[in-house]
Amino acid sequence: MIGLKGIKKITDFELRDQVVFLRLDLNVPLEKGRVADDTRIRESLPTIKYALEQGAKLVLASHLGRPKKAGDPEFSLEPVAAYLTEQLKKEVILVEEVRSEVIKQIILTLRRDQIILLENLRYDEGETANDPELARYFASFSQIYINDAFGASHRAHASIQALPEIMTKKGIGFLIEKEINFLDQLIVNPSRPYLAVMGGSKVSDKIDVIEKLIDVVDGFVIGGAMAYTFLRAMGKSTGISLVEADRVKYAGELIARIEARSKTLLLPIDHRVTTNIKDTKFEVTADANIREKMMGVDLGPKTERLFAEAIGKAKTIFWNGPMGVFETKEFSSGTFAVAKAIGESSGVKVVGGGDSASAAHASGYAHLMSHISTGGGASLEYLQGDRLPGIEVLRGKNS
Ligand code: ADP
Ligand code: MG
Repeated sequence: MIGLKGIKKITDFELRDQVVFLRLDLNVPLEKGRVADDTRIRESLPTIKYALEQGAKLVLASHLGRPKKAGDPEFSLEPVAAYLTEQLKKEVILVEEVRSEVIKQIILTLRRDQIILLENLRYDEGETANDPELARYFASFSQIYINDAFGASHRAHASIQALPEIMTKKGIGFLIEKEINFLDQLIVNPSRPYLAVMGGSKVSDKIDVIEKLIDVVDGFVIGGAMAYTFLRAMGKSTGISLVEADRVKYAGELIARIEARSKTLLLPIDHRVTTNIKDTKFEVTADANIREKMMGVDLGPKTERLFAEAIGKAKTIFWNGPMGVFETKEFSSGTFAVAKAIGESSGVKVVGGGDSASAAHASGYAHLMSHISTGGGASLEYLQGDRLPGIEVLRGKNS
């Protein structure tokens, strides 16, 4: 783990009158042509504002969703441009083509009250293909490259990897710096006890993280659909709850390994169950067993107390994965109880994962978290010890 060693920051460069290619993660959910959740844009503002204050000529770039073809209007950054105009009180020139003939002309005549935003990078196939030619095109008009797109830094894409590879002046923005510094607190000498609170839909999605954390944390709290695979491995009945049949054996081995290390593992001791995930009527089970034809959709009240108590004692907490189908109000109790307990704990508390971040916000306790990562996949890959291509490419030769 070498964190940000050998990586330059935006503050290390003289930005005045320089054309700065600023790769951001403006991949926000849209609804009816408007930004539905502005978290990622808001988190990008400090870097944008700093660069503007320093007098940079800014070219912003981001992807949004997974457009199937160039120009697909559903994936246009237009709503993001409108949002930025409002926030920055500057004219945002949205360049419709990623590989534009006119970009150099626009840069040449760019005024202080204007910034440039390239259209969705994924309109160009070269982006995901890490195309060196696309990178050369970007480099042809850029003097400094800054990556602040933490949520995309685990992808070897042209604007993340191929471009900085050929740039001499390159570094990170404030968001990546913040993300890495918080995530490093979970890897380097974390305060103890250190608890991983895991949930979500699938064990298979989380195996790599669990494997990485098993030697680092003092205990696991496991809820969400993922818990049923573990309960099944312990011989409990799980009804029609989501169990990954091909992971039951692994879950059993994991339980044994956690025990062998004398670490704690907390699993639900009761559940909220329903006959159908679309139904909002539920029952609370008497214990960890779920009877036939019933499906676990949330923690039960005893489990909420058990989990909250363990969380209250922890000094470092990593939370990834909701405790139930929290998108449905009736099944959000366990997730929100856990969010409350984490928020109110006195330790370092970091939330990772897209749905977990939404759950933290929906719970009303987001402001009490030390850090909510803007990058789901990227934060998990970093925590499990993978080098992120978009970060590694920025490291100086001698580090
Ligand atoms: P993250 O994006 O934070 O990594 P995941 O994608 O792993 O989280 O999991 C989130 C999803 O898990 C949510 O959509 C939630 O509805 C679902 N989920 C949690 N518990 C259950 C459950 N008991 N049954 C079905 N789905 C569940
Ligand atoms: Mg998810």
